[in-house]
Amino acid sequence: MNLPNCPKCNSEYTYQDGELYVCPECAYEWTENAQQAEEGLVVKDANGNLLSDGDTVSVIKDLKVKGSSSTLKIGTKVKNIRLVEGDHNIDCKIDGFGAMKLKSEFVKKI
Ligand SMILES: [Zn+2]
Repeated sequence: MNLPNCPKCNSEYTYQDGELYVCPECAYEWTENAQQAEEGLVVKDANGNLLSDGDTVSVIKDLKVKGSSSTLKIGTKVKNIRLVEGDHNIDCKIDGFGAMKLKSEFVKKI
């Protein structure tokens, strides 16, 4: 079995204790889930492709914009997205709309 190195001191002498990974050298304890969270957000677009910071996406359906009477049209390109935590997991700036948040399920990577 391949145990991960300690995320704190990079020791390779880690062992597993139930759900926990334990480092005998610096006494750090962590779980696999916590480690994944540290590696970054996992955000997928409508097609299940992984998105990352700086990607360009396009909107796949007309979206009402909160606090505005305008609609974000299907096919609108959104450049340089930033992934954030939460229900609306994409932070971006759109020409004519300004800074806003989108849900990843309504965009696709281009
Ligand atoms: Zn350690």
